[in-house]
Parts: sequence; structure tokens; C-alpha cells
Amino acid sequence: VDPEVAALQRTAAERKDVIGLSGGLPDTELMPREEIAVALAAVVRRADEALQYAWPEGVARLRAWIAKRLSARGADVSADDVIVTSGAQQALSLIGMAHRGKRIAVGEATYPAAIAAFERAGAEAVVDDGDARYVMPGVANPSGRELLAGMPGGVVIADEAYTELRYDGTLPRPLVADARDRVWHIGTLSKTVAPGLRVGWLVPPRGEHQELIDLKEASDLQTASVTQEAAAYLLTRFDYDAHIERSRAAYRKRCEVFCTALHEVAPQLAFDEPAGGFSAWIELPDERDELALLERAIENGVSFDPGRGFRPPGSTGPSAIRASFSNAPIDQLAEGARRLATTLGASASRRHS
Ligand code: PMP
Repeated sequence: VDPEVAALQRTAAERKDVIGLSGGLPDTELMPREEIAVALAAVVRRADEALQYAWPEGVARLRAWIAKRLSARGADVSADDVIVTSGAQQALSLIGMAHRGKRIAVGEATYPAAIAAFERAGAEAVVDDGDARYVMPGVANPSGRELLAGMPGGVVIADEAYTELRYDGTLPRPLVADARDRVWHIGTLSKTVAPGLRVGWLVPPRGEHQELIDLKEASDLQTASVTQEAAAYLLTRFDYDAHIERSRAAYRKRCEVFCTALHEVAPQLAFDEPAGGFSAWIELPDERDELALLERAIENGVSFDPGRGFRPPGSTGPSAIRASFSNAPIDQLAEGARRLATTLGASASRRHS
């Protein structure tokens, strides 16, 4: 992450008068707080597992729950194929390590920490023509759009971080169901339950399984036992599907409020309506200094994520911003859209060639 951008975002996050449209955080109010509290207390008290070391692949009951949901969607995946990771982020990092020296195609704009994970692990993130392709089926970050119809060729890294949060409630068939030996499947509880748990997962192609277990063990031995046990306890007791349904409806509503307001105050800003997830990706009609725009935005009481962080190294594209409507109080989203429009308009003279 650009240190100047990071410093500005930290300042913005501390200011109560800034409507936060950056970061892409889930809505805290949707997190099943009581259920998580009960699960944590129960697993810590009931036996040693939650406090003891566990095997690197993760807690069996949690892996079974993950595998069951994937098989219900048509994938030939069993609990033994699943590796629990410390968030989807660690899965990206481990996959990067397994692709050291290779090129991973990520498209023109993608999740910045995926680019960082791949690059820091010794792989190269490129726009296209990679040895592998990184995709987000169903809901892409930053665009919120479904970018992909069908199954790409070659090695595919399928990040389903937001897939369950499609506003239309449809869940696409997982890519791993159609190409088990060349798809790396990634999932997480961060967007649907709580990111603080740091529970994600990875299903590597079968031939890569042992290598990934070794990489996982070398990285951190295992994902935290406490949160894995709590997640397994929670997921086998509460109605996860009903919870997802509520969350989808809540994010759909947030998206509608924000996008409607933005279209109203800035009709000249053309952007695709998100199909799910937390954010809208807005390409600007003119070339802008995105850092200066962010400074101006914070002065105006709103924040966003500058688009350049979403571009793979060395690539360029139109000036853009990602605005996340997922976490600011819903009754401030229209005002956030207004401040954003003011900022973008007010800075129209700050063109550079
Ligand atoms: N993939 C995508 C597309 C994301 O947006 C995120 C979180 N911003 C992650 C992976 C990582 O999520 P976590 O490590 O919290 O599971």
C-alpha cells in the first residue's frame, strides 16, 4: 500500500466528521456478536482443543462444514482437501509462494492485497497472459460486478470472498466443480461472519495439497485454534443461510441508497451498478491526481480508496476510485455521495497531462 495513502486513510478513520467510504469493511451490525460470544466461551470452557496446538490443515469439523457446502454446489471436495487459513489473505500469500517465479494474471484492476501477496511471495502480478489467472467469481472487488462468465482455461485462482453476497441471491457453480485439478479455490468467513476471526480456507489442486500444507506449517503452524473451534461451533448451530440472506439484503439496500444518491448528485459519473459485495468502482472522466483528490475528499468529510492501488505494478488505467458503502452508517451514505460528488467536481480543474 502506498504509504501516503495509508497515512491519509488512518487520519480519515480517526475523524468522526469523515464519512468512511474506504477500506471495504463489513457492517459490524450484521456480525452475529452474541452467537460468536457464546461460541467462544463454550469452546474455551468445554475441552482443551481450543487452547491447544492443532494440525496445520485445521480443525476437522470446520473443514467438514466447508467441504459440505462446496459439495452441495457440485464440487468434488472432501474435508481432507480443505486447508484452513488465517483469512483468505493467507491463502493468497501461500498461493503466491507456490507460484514463485511465475506470472499471475489479475486483470486491469483487482484487490490490492492480492497483488501484494503474490508479489511479496515472489510471483509476478500482471494484467493478462499469466501462468495462472486470479478471478473473483460472482462478485469482483473492486467493481462489484460479475466479470466472468464461464470457466477460464489454464490454472485458475478463484477467490470467493464475496461470492455469497450477490444481491440477487444466486450462487454460481464454483469453478472448482468443473476443473478440480487446475483450480485453487479460496473462501473466507470475513465478509459474512466477522474478519476478526481470521478464518479462511483454501482448496488446492490435489497434486499441490502436501506442498501447501508444508507452506502453511512453515508460515504459522496453524490457524488459531480458538477461532477455528468457535467458527465450527457457531456454523454447526446457527442458520448460516438465513444469516447470509439477511446480509445480502442489507448490503443490497446500502448499495441502492448510495448509488441512487450518487447518480442524482453526479449524473455525469458513469459507473456499473455492483451485483453484490461492498463497493462501487468509479472511473473518472478525466485524468486526476488521485492522492490530491483523497486529500480534498477528507477535507470535505468523506474518504474513498484511490484507484491506482488496484492496478498491477507498471500498468495504468483511467483515474478511478473505489467507494465502499458497506460500513458507514446507512443514513450517512447519501451525504457521503454528495461530498464525494463535490470533491470530484471541485477538483475538476486539477488536471494534469
Ligand atoms: N480476497 C478479497 C477479494 C478481499 O476483498 C479480501 C478482504 N478485503 C480478502 C481476500 C482477504 O480477506 P480475509 O483475509 O479477511 O479473509
